[in-house]
Amino acid sequence: MTAFWTEADYDDHELVQLVHDRSSGLTAIIALHSTHLGPGAGGTRFWHYAEPKAAMRDALRLSRGMSYKNAMAGLPMGGGKAVILADSDKTKTPEMLAAFGDAVEALGGRYVTAEDVGISEADMVAVSQRTSHVSGLPVAGEGAAGGDPGPFTAMGIYLGIKAAVKHNLGKDSVARVHVALQGTGSVGSGVARLLAKDGARLTLADISEQRAAILAQELGGNAVAPDAIMSVACDVFSPNALGAILDDEGIARLDCPIVAGGANNQLARAKHGEMLAARGILYAPDYVINAGGIISVAQEYLDRQSGNAGGINEVRKRIAQIPERLVQIWQESERSGVSSDVVADRMAQQLIGR
Ligand code: NAD
Repeated sequence: MTAFWTEADYDDHELVQLVHDRSSGLTAIIALHSTHLGPGAGGTRFWHYAEPKAAMRDALRLSRGMSYKNAMAGLPMGGGKAVILADSDKTKTPEMLAAFGDAVEALGGRYVTAEDVGISEADMVAVSQRTSHVSGLPVAGEGAAGGDPGPFTAMGIYLGIKAAVKHNLGKDSVARVHVALQGTGSVGSGVARLLAKDGARLTLADISEQRAAILAQELGGNAVAPDAIMSVACDVFSPNALGAILDDEGIARLDCPIVAGGANNQLARAKHGEMLAARGILYAPDYVINAGGIISVAQEYLDRQSGNAGGINEVRKRIAQIPERLVQIWQESERSGVSSDVVADRMAQQLIGR
């Protein structure tokens, strides 16, 4: 039998902590992948897992993902993630959040938490009563970093799409460039609005067809059914909804030279980055192009710790660097013949000293 820390997902985590608090009923895992560049930052997920092993796998994979994302965004932060194992009816109590806050505090700032799936801003405010190692709290005031990360994520994706269009199609503007956009929620609608301002041609889809239709009407684009969006003939396919959409079948359907969008974990499996490259499709690695939100969340934390305000300018500066990072990845991919997702992983590993 092999030790679990030799399994691939474990990937040399610095610390994996199981938190069990009898009186509140809290069971949580805090995974710290790397603190090489700074405190491990990554949100807390509140989820009902079919089995504890799935919770551990989620914590480990998400934590490593945060190490890579934070490093590639140029942040002085490492990577970590927490999962709270919810029961089947997802009961969440103030006592559980307090016990979770105590567990974060006990790590003395090695781990910094924030919202993720199932955790609200109000939950983070509750956690912040027990520890200062929290971000994603209400914005402190004019010029302060923080608040809803969606618009910051959208800005980074918009700039990334422009960089891809310049790199692959040789165009300085997205005017009349056709973008097929999947998901018109917080991030997708923000990307669509920014593209529309520049005169891009938009085709939109959302599982809520009405949401896509209303936005298409507002922006002068078209809406199509959710199962049609991946086969639209376009210049850019921009996934901003679900993960794992780039699988054998999804990639075969694509009719575009560029994939650039904000959904997390777009590649169903590692081989799918190579499949995109083999089809001659330029791919913007998801965790590089969608880093705008974490850039804002991290700055909010750094500002609160240092007592500085006005971090919004730093946020804008770092988001403006996302296109440069993407171009660096694409150039290295073209030079080496290695797919862009693998190039990004290798760059991230180098930055965190692995
Ligand atoms: P959201 O819930 O606001 O929007 C998601 C949208 O996708 C919804 O409108 C939903 O109806 C739609 N959708 C779901 N399944 C779909 C399908 N099969 N086809 C078409 N549309 C579908 O979420 P969001 O905050 O906009 O996040 C979107 C993606 O971006 C997620 O993968 C998220 O993990 C990722 N992401 C978000 C942020 C952020 O700052 N919010 C940061 C990084 C990454």
